[in-house]
Amino acid sequence: AVELIALTKRYGPSSVAVDSIDLRIAPNSYCCLLGPSGCGKSTTLRMIAGHESTTSGDILLENRNITTLPAASRGTAMMFQSFALFPHLTALDNVAFSLKMKGEDKAGRQAKAQALLERVAMGHLAQRKPGELSGGQQQRVALARALITQPRVLLLDEPLSALDPFLRIQMRAELRQWQKDLGLSFIHVTHSQEEAMALADTMVVMNQGLIEQVGSPHEVYNRPATEFVARFMGGHN
Ligand code: ATP
Ligand code: MG
Repeated sequence: AVELIALTKRYGPSSVAVDSIDLRIAPNSYCCLLGPSGCGKSTTLRMIAGHESTTSGDILLENRNITTLPAASRGTAMMFQSFALFPHLTALDNVAFSLKMKGEDKAGRQAKAQALLERVAMGHLAQRKPGELSGGQQQRVALARALITQPRVLLLDEPLSALDPFLRIQMRAELRQWQKDLGLSFIHVTHSQEEAMALADTMVVMNQGLIEQVGSPHEVYNRPATEFVARFMGGHN
C-alpha cells in the first residue's frame, strides 16, 4: 500500500499546494487522483515520486518510509503526459536507459528491455525511434521504460491527454489491463471525471490542496460527500 500521512507542500508562506492530506491506496489497485486545475494533483504525485521535496508529512510504500529517499531507490516509477522518450534513441535503448545508469552490462540491459517490449506487444518495433511510432506505441514504450526498474507503484500524470480521442479510449482500456496483469498499484492523475469513472477502483477527489472525497466511482458519483464533489461530478465546473 501507499500511505500519505499529513502530507503537505508549501511553495511560500501563503501558498499551500497540498494541505496535510491523509490517504491510503490499497495494493494492486487502480487509483485516480481527480480535481480541477491547480488543486495539487501533480504536486502530490511528484512528492510520491521523489521529484519534489515535501514540506512536512510522511510517505510510506509497503510500510517503508520513503519520504526522503532519492527517486531512484523508492520503488516508484513515473510516466508522463508527453511520455518524455529520448527522440534520438531506439525504443530498446529508451527502455534500457535507466539500467545503463545503474551500471548493468549491455547484453543484460538489452535482454531485459527486449523482454519488456515483448510484454507490451512492442518487441517487433524495438529498433524504431519514437518519431517513427504512433502515439499509442510511444505510450507502450514509455510504460516499458517505467517498468524496467521493477516499481511497486506506477505514477501516471495525465498519461492520455496528449492522445486523440479515439486513441485515448483505447489506451484507457490498455492501462486498466496492464494494471491487472502487473498486479501493481497505479496512481493516475487526471482532470477528467469521465476518465476517472472509467478506470478507477478508487477515486480521490481533490480541491485546493485538500481531499474532498475518497471512494469507488459509484460512491463518488451517487453519494458525493461535499457540495464541491456534487458540482464537480455533475460537470458544472
Ligand atoms: P493541473 O490540472 O493544471 O495540472 P494540478 O492539480 O496538477 O493542476 P499542481 O501542479 O499540483 O496542480 O499545482 C498546485 C498548486 O501549486 C497550484 O496553485 C500551482 O500554481 C502551485 N505550484 C505548482 N508548482 C509550483 C512551483 N514550482 N512553484 C510555485 N507554485 C507552484
Ligand atoms: Mg498537473
